[in-house]
Amino acid sequence: TEQTQEWLENYVDDWVSFYRKHTTEGKVASYIPILAEANRDHLGISIMGKDGMTIRSGDVDIPFTIQSISKVLSFITACMERGVGYMLDRVDVEPTGEAFNSIMHLEMKQVKKPFNPLINAGAITVTSILQGKTSDQKLKPILNLMEAMLGYRPAINVDVYESERDSSMRNRAIGYYLLETGFLESDLNITLETYFKQCSIEVTVDDLARIGMILANDGEDPKAEKEIIPRQVARIVKALMLTCGMYDASGKFATYVGIPAKSGVSGGIMAVAPPRVREEELPFIEGCGIGVYGPALDNKGNSIAGIRLLRHIAKQWDLSIF
Ligand code: GLU
Repeated sequence: TEQTQEWLENYVDDWVSFYRKHTTEGKVASYIPILAEANRDHLGISIMGKDGMTIRSGDVDIPFTIQSISKVLSFITACMERGVGYMLDRVDVEPTGEAFNSIMHLEMKQVKKPFNPLINAGAITVTSILQGKTSDQKLKPILNLMEAMLGYRPAINVDVYESERDSSMRNRAIGYYLLETGFLESDLNITLETYFKQCSIEVTVDDLARIGMILANDGEDPKAEKEIIPRQVARIVKALMLTCGMYDASGKFATYVGIPAKSGVSGGIMAVAPPRVREEELPFIEGCGIGVYGPALDNKGNSIAGIRLLRHIAKQWDLSIF
């Protein structure tokens, strides 16, 4: 009801104001020069329930690039194109405990495949598997999938794409390593071009909340009663988000927040609160998605205020899936 919405919104407003003070402890990402221009005081959150009711608070209208959160969407797309079996033969589903752009684990032992699709090595491999000869062809099904969920076709932020492309030494190093070891399934330059473009897709917290809500409901758009992502794929992706989604702070996030989530270096977080069997005190939160934006990052690369806000809300509303 409207009353619940207002009550929840006031509640969330208070905590957004509170945690906004924490942004000064963080740092905006600067390894991609243009990301350094973000305003570190921004903090916004959108929470979308399965009936479409949305609680929004703070800086909700600032568009930002999706960055690493795109790894979830490219993996879903590749699974839908090639099948889950094909994909799991080519990328593993194990956390590394290393930074997102780590090269270390690739070189260790006899690694048969990249550890998981949410670190760069795995994500670049996944992008190489996407069908299509050009980067725009490879990108198209990702944008189609997003359009099916969001009701509009998101744009690519060209300035971020170019900045990313021109400061991509580490990703090129990973790419060459993947090429040498035979993991890549298409041309390296086209793969990287696609990867930089997918990272530069522009979204808002509402978009992340909506995608999160669909994942919470196992890939179904509950209102339209339409399957957008196959259930099996949605489940795998949630497991990956829980174990590998928050960089090398995924264990802490699972412990203290307890829901699947994926973050990106621009300060976005997409979180998923699957429905649970419990007393229906607050039916709104059963199967909701949460989008957060707060570009000031902690030393692991996660939104510093965003994580604290999520932790607070998850505790208050008992969101943990455990
Ligand atoms: N574009 C980024 C990179 O690969 C994505 C990083 C992230 O959000 O973790 O460097």
